[in-house]
Amino acid sequence: MKIFHTPLEITDYITGLKHSGKRIALVPTMGSLHDGHTSLLSIAKEHADISICYIYVNPTQFNNENDLKTYPRNLDEDIETLSRTTCDILFAPDNMYHSHFQTSVSNRLLAKDFEGAHRPGHFDGVCTVLAMFFNLLQPDVAVFGEKDFQQLRIVEQMVEDLYFPIQIIRAPLIREESGLALSSRNKKLCSEDRKKATTLYKALSAGKNAFNAGEKNALSVKKQVLNTLLEQPKLEVEYLACVNENMEEVETLTHDNRLLIAAWISGVRLIDNVVL
Ligand code: AMP
Repeated sequence: MKIFHTPLEITDYITGLKHSGKRIALVPTMGSLHDGHTSLLSIAKEHADISICYIYVNPTQFNNENDLKTYPRNLDEDIETLSRTTCDILFAPDNMYHSHFQTSVSNRLLAKDFEGAHRPGHFDGVCTVLAMFFNLLQPDVAVFGEKDFQQLRIVEQMVEDLYFPIQIIRAPLIREESGLALSSRNKKLCSEDRKKATTLYKALSAGKNAFNAGEKNALSVKKQVLNTLLEQPKLEVEYLACVNENMEEVETLTHDNRLLIAAWISGVRLIDNVVL
């Protein structure tokens, strides 16, 4: 695996790859890699000759300074993890913003609610940094996890709106055996809280089971989820929603709608979702 740390270094290498007709797949990450991330890398390799993982804890997508400061970082461990995968290139820049940086990419509709409402500026930061990485690394495909479903939808929209010649591939959400969605932020939880956090998936599953049993009313399904969450008072729900692909709340549920949830436990914010 080749490792690059600056835009300048990697630009020449990418130009060479493009000249030799190689297809490039990109997996954007913020590091602290887990099996969710490596599953994206396996998918990337199915679609291209060369897979690139970037690791960059993008400061502009954090609306909370403490979250940015305490975000788990361990590049050495990540390099080891990647060396056990089919990843061809790691790009791990220290900084992507020059001193007079002044441009921003934002989404007006898909980003309005849920993560966008509770983390002001978050998706502007995500879209802006992705536009930079897309231009710099020129991928043919990029793989994003359904774990961050609203982000995935916004990226799909951005690529369409801005004519990026990139195919966006959706990767399924990977969970621990306990049902807890894998997340870099899980590292911030003590083992007891990690166990308690499994109630999130249990609650979403209760909602999905109600839907599968014939309940199509979104309010009733949400009630099922909230009832299950009562079992674990340490989980504080920030939002719970039934949405369609346009990130609009729906009243009557159909297949392909999603139950989205964000909740806090011991100062750590977790998100999860299931498709109905
Ligand atoms: P992050 O490092 O959290 O910014 O995530 C980088 C990419 O990995 C995003 O596309 C996420 O949606 C994806 N990802 C994170 N956790 C998971 C997971 N448990 N399953 C699948 N993809 C994930």
